[in-house]
Amino acid sequence: MSRFSSLAKLLTVASCLVCVHTLAQAQMPQQQPQAKSFKLGSLDIVALHDAQFVQPNDSKIFGLDHSPAEVAALLSAAGAPTDTVTLSVDALLVRSGKHIVLIDTGVGGALQGSLEKAGVKPDQIDEILLTHTHPDHIGGLVIDGKLAFPNATIRMSEAEWKFAKTNEKIAPIVKLITNKVKTFTPGGSVAPGITSVSLPGHTPGHVGYRITSGKERLFDIGDTVHSSIISLAKPDWAVSFDGDKPEAEANRSKTLSSLVKSHELIFAPHFPFPGVGYIQAEGDHFKWDPTEKAD
Ligand SMILES: [Zn+2]
Repeated sequence: MSRFSSLAKLLTVASCLVCVHTLAQAQMPQQQPQAKSFKLGSLDIVALHDAQFVQPNDSKIFGLDHSPAEVAALLSAAGAPTDTVTLSVDALLVRSGKHIVLIDTGVGGALQGSLEKAGVKPDQIDEILLTHTHPDHIGGLVIDGKLAFPNATIRMSEAEWKFAKTNEKIAPIVKLITNKVKTFTPGGSVAPGITSVSLPGHTPGHVGYRITSGKERLFDIGDTVHSSIISLAKPDWAVSFDGDKPEAEANRSKTLSSLVKSHELIFAPHFPFPGVGYIQAEGDHFKWDPTEKAD
């Protein structure tokens, strides 16, 4: 199966999984590999681009209880097109001691090309950490019916693996990875310098990963947020992707508030590539401060 048809198939799966009006309707610009390297203490980190989703602004994903005009006003204020909402799909690579750790694997778009740009071969990755099991985070685990990262242990929370096994839409992926999966209870160390953090609401076992080296920290907050514009301007607006919407909204507001206080560097896999920056307070809501970390 070609990479393109593989991607199209995964997008169809994704559309069934998250919402009828989602990824399958997205316009798909050509997926370009990108890799952005930077240092975190003594660790080498690389943000990896996988895909770009351009979704119609029709109140079926963002602002479920609001009109497209209200969403358009937020997009317009941020200088973005008002008829679409664009989400990047990215992953994060951490070289930690002798381990090469990949956090999330994209939908099966340009990730392999992005890894090549970073000088990493798929069989060198020995640890994969999943924030959750939606197809835009686990789609890259399998290519042409085979494990894309044959030497990697695949870690996720216990609750997320339980959820994944009940989800028929991802059954082919679950079957292929079963022997590679190891689960954890959120809150502890999952790899050298990396701790899992429960971030509830998006899926039953959704977690983030906090990477620490010396005094420096980077927090991959997974799908706590989706749009760098809407999720921050209106964290209390329902998003179709969130499984438990009230819990996700509460977690989003709480996490964003604590990130303003801690001024902690974050990675958000759906923010504009490379998705690395800071959350700032703005009035009664938040705004994105993308930071350009140099190589
Ligand atoms: Zn996602």
